Amino acid sequence: TISSALPTQSASATELAGLDRRFLVHPHQRMDRNDRVVIVRGEGATVWDAAGNELVDATGGGNWLSQVGHGRRELAEAAAEQISTLEYYTGFFDYSNDKAIELAYRLNQLSPEGIDRVFLTSGGSDSVESAIKSARLYHNRRGEPNRTWILARHFGYHGASYGSGTATGFEMMQTYVGPNLPNVEKLSPVWPYHHEMYGGGDVTDALIAELEGAIERIGAGNIAAMIGEPVMAGGGVHEPPADYWPRVREVLSRNGILLIADEVVTGFGRTGSWFDSATRGMKPDMITIAKGLTSGYIPMGGLLMSDAIAEVVTSNEGFFHGYTYAGHPVAAAVALANLDIIEKEGLIGRSLTVGDWFKSSLAPARDLPQVGDVRVIGATVGIELVVSKQTKEPMMIPIVAEGVADAVRREHNVIVRPYGNVIVMSPPLVIGEDQVRRTAEATIEVLSRLGADGQVAPR
Ligand code: PLP
Repeated sequence: TISSALPTQSASATELAGLDRRFLVHPHQRMDRNDRVVIVRGEGATVWDAAGNELVDATGGGNWLSQVGHGRRELAEAAAEQISTLEYYTGFFDYSNDKAIELAYRLNQLSPEGIDRVFLTSGGSDSVESAIKSARLYHNRRGEPNRTWILARHFGYHGASYGSGTATGFEMMQTYVGPNLPNVEKLSPVWPYHHEMYGGGDVTDALIAELEGAIERIGAGNIAAMIGEPVMAGGGVHEPPADYWPRVREVLSRNGILLIADEVVTGFGRTGSWFDSATRGMKPDMITIAKGLTSGYIPMGGLLMSDAIAEVVTSNEGFFHGYTYAGHPVAAAVALANLDIIEKEGLIGRSLTVGDWFKSSLAPARDLPQVGDVRVIGATVGIELVVSKQTKEPMMIPIVAEGVADAVRREHNVIVRPYGNVIVMSPPLVIGEDQVRRTAEATIEVLSRLGADGQVAPR
């Protein structure tokens, strides 16, 4: 007989891990990683695994989101209420729903000046994909069909679909799956800590010279847009020099090139403001959002754009682009309830407070031999591991941050996230000071056992 009963209902943690290995393909899965950490419950900045371990979630659901923390009844109620009122109706063509309209209005109120309209999507990759298509469509409709090139940056992360995945600056995501999206040019990442790699002079001068060189080589009339995260997140949590974005903006404007701010991570308080781009003189033409928009309670993203762009892309034959779940009423209701909590609980300001707690509690990490840099931007932290403080050579052998993050979880019940040679923390903005200190102490304790060979010595 074929049993349709789920064996998971009574499965032990070990059995669940076995079922996972057998049946579930994970995003960004690597077969050499055999561990399975099965998370079954969450509250605030705490999660529980199937084995009953209580863990500090210093990663915001593992993916830089969960702004309002896990287990918020308000969001469950908003979803239940909306599902029982109207679970779905299409947003295609002339149709709309009241929650999507309310969310569009709310985002208009929150977004930087000059950003007026929103196209709703199902997540970050969809939003970036929509931005790339909109940039090309915009120029094409205005009589410049050759403007197809997209400028992006090595180590920028923009998603996993073909357009967003090609704009992403991690080569392993483009290997073996080509041909990838044509006409994408990668510029250098903005890594002020590694200022030596820019020739020894001013970092912004070097990056602007590189940008101008690329524009000259490709031809301004062939370039649609540049995309960049205001603060590079997956690329190591790097804050650009204060003059970087204003000068990039000036060069792009002079050449008729649009600027897309990818705020999928930085939006909604992650770095201490509603929109990080608004604090850096970026003045983008379009902004992509996701993650913190719903705190991850339900998938939703969006592409915010100026009136000028919206009018062009929806003109003439129209905007033949969109997703079944665009403006999903349940997702919109959850997003609205999430924005309410962020506002009422002052979580944008709290992000900076969380950052201050990290700064003070992580201060001793700077003295450790393998710690090159500790970067804290709002409630977002990157600890860069190096072979030597003098050379700043990234410690990639073995994939050291993974070993550190594994030890922090196994030995201290704290979850931090590894990115190559950078340990990342991006907790729910409601995280308590005690949990921040525990995270810092656990990480420092493990890092104090990290040798120059990249191995964590046993306790
Ligand atoms: N843009 C940035 C800056 C991201 O960090 C991510 C995901 O981490 C994305 C886009 C893609 O978002 P999603 O995974 O929701 O498709």
